[in-house]
Amino acid sequence: MNPLLTAEQQDLVDQAGKLADVFAERAAAHDRDNTFPFENYEDLREAGFLRLSVPKELGGFGATLAEIAPVLERLAMGDGATALAVTMHISPLGQWASVWRRTQNPRLEQLLRKAADGDLIWASVTSEMGLRNDMTDSRTTAVKVPGGFTLTGRKSFATNTSVATHCSTTARYEEAEGGPRLMLCQIALDQPGVKVHQTWNTMGMRGTQSNDLELTEVFVPDEQVVHSLPVNHLDARVLETVWAWAMPAFSAVYTGVAAGALEWTVRQLSGRPKANDPVIQDAIGECHILLESSRALIHRHVEEVTTRRLYDRGVQEGVARSALVKYVASNNAVQVVQRLVDVIGGASYTKALPFERMWRDIQASTFMPMGNLAARKLIGANVLGVETLPVIDFAETGPDSRPKP
Ligand SMILES: Cc1cc2nc3c(=O)[nH]c(=O)nc-3n(C[C@H](O)[C@H](O)[C@H](O)COP(=O)(O)OP(=O)(O)OC[C@H]3O[C@@H](n4cnc5c(N)ncnc54)[C@H](O)[C@@H]3O)c2cc1C
Repeated sequence: MNPLLTAEQQDLVDQAGKLADVFAERAAAHDRDNTFPFENYEDLREAGFLRLSVPKELGGFGATLAEIAPVLERLAMGDGATALAVTMHISPLGQWASVWRRTQNPRLEQLLRKAADGDLIWASVTSEMGLRNDMTDSRTTAVKVPGGFTLTGRKSFATNTSVATHCSTTARYEEAEGGPRLMLCQIALDQPGVKVHQTWNTMGMRGTQSNDLELTEVFVPDEQVVHSLPVNHLDARVLETVWAWAMPAFSAVYTGVAAGALEWTVRQLSGRPKANDPVIQDAIGECHILLESSRALIHRHVEEVTTRRLYDRGVQEGVARSALVKYVASNNAVQVVQRLVDVIGGASYTKALPFERMWRDIQASTFMPMGNLAARKLIGANVLGVETLPVIDFAETGPDSRPKP
């Protein structure tokens, strides 16, 4: 009972499956040695998957969010870390592609063509220690200088920086007219002042090598400041460019990790007397139901993004709906893997088998933004009609937006 996919989706998923099966064989070593899977990235490049979300007209595969999600899930079934790393590239490019299709924006076209040529790999680096990663503020400072800004600060959880050429990042511009603003900037990672610190030594998702990124007076020309908003506001463009896309993408990855654990377990059971045990059948059925429920919600969310209905009910509800899909998918994924421990028993605990890694990897899912607490709070407030933060709506979002009382 595999998900029913369109022919286009199935074709891409089949290609992803071939890669994922190879990644699965390499995953244990990268997990053990705490290393980035560079050879997986080369395989992704060779198979054209680094161009997955670039429009066909610009030299890519032209995959939309509806195709990207099942591909990320399938890749994560082989190796969650590789899938999460490449998500930081595929998802922002897909989002730009969706805007480019509507606007033909020349700047986006240039970036997408660069990615199609293999000259650009992206990372999205906003996390900072001790500050909620909710795209409302930053401790990294932006100082105005002629022709642009200099950025100074330290980011954490910088997934994909082992291979990325560029990243999106955030900084606070204290002296801005009208009050402090959160600046969303794009930077090249090979420029002076950018340094990656090898700090990543975690329980799971070790292959992502989500190290710290230090920025010391990094120059950002004005044209690379792609957006700005007053701090501590919910902004329509942040909803559109971050939450609406990142939440289903992360959901797909963690659904994939759990689906990989289920598939592995089913393989162990197949043809064995244990498969005839109704208690085992009940547990496996429950896991499948949970994963299919996540997929259904991801599908609904993708529809809402693609048709832009997500943006019809205001910014707060849009962010809350994005958080909902991530909440359900990550919690279902944790539940699936935990339920499988009942089925597998002691074999789930040995480093000699891949299940143990999947069990650790899945623990990242519920606190990765939007984390459980923040999601429940926002969803609840929204249902109650309580505004959590002042909103900058679509009509006013941009460099001229001003703080709301
Ligand atoms: C494997 C992995 C890869 C990652 N990759 C990236 C990446 O590439 N780029 C990147 O920028 N980040 C990345 N992140 C980091 C992520 O964005 C978070 O910043 C990180 O998980 C830190 O979370 P935290 O719980 O320490 O911090 P916080 O987000 O500060 O959360 C702390 C606590 O506060 C709660 N909380 C947060 N917001 C609210 C709120 N509004 N109201 C109430 N409670 C709230 C949380 O639920 C949590 O319990 C990654 C994380 C993981 C696990």
